[in-house]
Amino acid sequence: MFTLLAIVLPAATVAVVGYVSLRQWQRSAELLFRQQARDVAAMAADKVDMLLRATDDEALARLQATLATDGATEAALDRLVATTPIIQRLYAIDHDGGVLYPRALSDVDAPVVVALRAQMSDGWARRSGSREVAAGETSVLTAVLRGNRGPVLAGLTRSGEGLRRQVLESALIGQEAAATLYAIVDAAGDPVYSQRPLDGADLVAAVPLRNGFPAWRMAIYQPRGTSPVAAVRRQITVSMGALAVLTVVIVAGVVAVGRLVRRETEMAQLKADFVANVSHDLKTPLSVIRMYGETLEMGRVRDDEARQEYYRVITRESERLSRLIDNVLDFSRIEGGRRRYEMTPTAIEPLVRETLEAFGYPLAQQGFKVEVEIGPDLPEIPMDADAVGQALANLVDNAIKFSGDVKWLRIEARGTDGGVAITVSDHGIGVPVGEEEKIFEKFYRVGHSDTQARRGSGVGLALVKHVAGAHGGRVGVERASGPGSRFTLWLPQ
Ligand code: ADP
Repeated sequence: MFTLLAIVLPAATVAVVGYVSLRQWQRSAELLFRQQARDVAAMAADKVDMLLRATDDEALARLQATLATDGATEAALDRLVATTPIIQRLYAIDHDGGVLYPRALSDVDAPVVVALRAQMSDGWARRSGSREVAAGETSVLTAVLRGNRGPVLAGLTRSGEGLRRQVLESALIGQEAAATLYAIVDAAGDPVYSQRPLDGADLVAAVPLRNGFPAWRMAIYQPRGTSPVAAVRRQITVSMGALAVLTVVIVAGVVAVGRLVRRETEMAQLKADFVANVSHDLKTPLSVIRMYGETLEMGRVRDDEARQEYYRVITRESERLSRLIDNVLDFSRIEGGRRRYEMTPTAIEPLVRETLEAFGYPLAQQGFKVEVEIGPDLPEIPMDADAVGQALANLVDNAIKFSGDVKWLRIEARGTDGGVAITVSDHGIGVPVGEEEKIFEKFYRVGHSDTQARRGSGVGLALVKHVAGAHGGRVGVERASGPGSRFTLWLPQ
């Protein structure tokens, strides 16, 4: 539970904090970009507005000139409309409210004429300048002009085509190079004018055009994928990916550190057990030697046969002591990287037999049935005979130690491809499944009570493995066909 929390908590904190701040950043960046785009659109709309005013003024000036010279004649005004692209429809109303132009009124003209007449309140004729008047959806530019027969209320609506030719093309000149596309969109949001084809471009912002075209808006487009918003989204995706990787790394790191700590704790425990086990192992033979030595010294053993037995026990216990001390010393040399091996070609059979002889007494005493099978014509193997002898002794010692009720030991040496395999088998307690690798680790002893009850330091097999490796060989354990285990040491030729 605690471990799970230790892994999940830092990773989840980083993931959540990272995710929330990235989203926050994305929101503010998008807001900022949209604001900027709106500002750009507003500036363009201002420019369009300014140019439209100038175009309007020019159209009114021409109208004034025509009215002053030719009056509100149909021919003169038709000519004026035809030569002034910004004018869509032109209206001229005399001081009595009579429509001077156009001569024939269509349906669209009626609301405009009504709106114009509504302007003719007291003193209208003295008004100067122009003003924008709404007639339904349409915006009408009105001005009081001087005709040759008195004041004329003039009104004009603007043509989209005229706006394009006279205003937009010059207003948006110089903006082509930027990635931004300017367009005018109608009330439905459909483009009525754009600098370049918009295909697939994204609308970023739009602001209304003030005069002349109240329903139209100046819009800013960005070609797909190039808008700052898209760039922010891309960056967010990359950052989210990086965040995910970071989270995974944190999880992996915490797991690795957790494993390391657990391993170190186990190792510290194993070392403590090792010291206790070795001390215990040293103490037992020493007490036996001392007790038997003292008994002999006091001359209490009169019987020759019994005296011989005492001597044998003392010898056997000192051999055990030597083996234990050799193991510990060798282990410490291996750990310190100081173990050297001297290779000389060595025959296998004598080595096996000498090793077994060293265990002659305990084997006989415990009633072991010992089988030895040495293959014919085994080659001599280059080896450090002491080291390999010691490794074999450790395997035999284990076979005796972990023998259980069935006292049976078999050593087999046979030639294999390019070397020799020496197998030590017993019918003892066996190695539990899943422990086959671990028992070769230093200090490791199988946890069950059968093992723990027996003396041992846990470095014997680690030493065998090291010796095997130093000779270019290996060691492994298999389950025996019946109960027990089979340890095999392979040595190359
Ligand atoms: P030690 O014998 O001093 O405990 P080893 O390194 O020689 O240490 O062996 C490690 C462990 O492997 C032993 O504690 C025991 O659990 C297991 N083991 C080794 N040899 C045998 C065997 N012949 N049968 C059963 N278990 C064995």
